Amino acid sequence: MDMIKAQNVSYKYIRRDEEDRIVEEITALNNIDLHIPKGQFVAVIGHNGSGKSTFAKHINALLLPFDGKVFVDGMDTSDETVLWDIRKKAGMVFQNPDNQIIASVVEEDVAFGPENIGIEPEKIRERVAEALKIVGMEKYAKHSPARLSGGQKQRVAIAGALAILPQCLVFDESTAMLDPVGRREVMNVVKKLNKEEKITVIFITHYMEEAAMADRVVVMDRGKIVMDAAPAEVFADSEKLSALGLELPQAAQLAQELRQAGLPLCADIIDTETLVEAICELEKK
Ligand code: ADP
Ligand code: MG
Repeated sequence: MDMIKAQNVSYKYIRRDEEDRIVEEITALNNIDLHIPKGQFVAVIGHNGSGKSTFAKHINALLLPFDGKVFVDGMDTSDETVLWDIRKKAGMVFQNPDNQIIASVVEEDVAFGPENIGIEPEKIRERVAEALKIVGMEKYAKHSPARLSGGQKQRVAIAGALAILPQCLVFDESTAMLDPVGRREVMNVVKKLNKEEKITVIFITHYMEEAAMADRVVVMDRGKIVMDAAPAEVFADSEKLSALGLELPQAAQLAQELRQAGLPLCADIIDTETLVEAICELEKK
């Protein structure tokens, strides 16, 4: 069963002048077809302006397609009667944690979502405690979010999304504003949510190292999906990626340079661990 099913989805932003005349139409999504099975961890990459955020906003019905359909666990996002069911099923985590954290105490902030959908107080306490535990922030329940690091704030924002008990989470460049430590903290939480909590993850990022951790990488360009395959396959085509304005993950880049220098390394090395292992194997020979 698919968690997300986008069928021939197109979307345009329309700019109008003061007299409501159309001055510009920007096609942000152009006939997108994408099926994401339940439990998958999908990374979405693509140059700035390629339509990633526009697509993300279609998943929880913040935007509706001009053409085509989006289904979330079988529910049509254009059906108003299931809007809240869709938003409970598919949560979003955005880029800036400061814009997502509203309350002055961590646990109150995490409680905000479940309160909003009318969960009873006793259950809310349970959900908040559980969500904070999953993201490893339970010790900070009574703290002020203001004093937390970027990575910790983003984990609180993730706990807030988790407290709704979603089956799918969309991360729109949620690591972009973090330092390397914060990015690693968030990545570890995201991997855990996928592996242990069985949450379907759609992870938009411009860090290729992060995309390399997914089950599948979808590459967007000018509103279209131009590549869709396992990370090793996508990152094996460095020429195509480069033409799309994208780089290789550092480890893949280094492996490529070592291959060019004559080391017999195989073509599907995309992460540091595998690269180190491969080099150690060469040493032994
Ligand atoms: P990405 O997230 O990949 O950077 P976006 O989905 O934000 O891409 O943008 C896709 C295209 O739509 C770009 O050309 C962008 O300029 C345009 N766009 C995005 N948001 C708006 C908006 N609110 N109004 C007008 N154009 C927009
Ligand atoms: Mg974006």
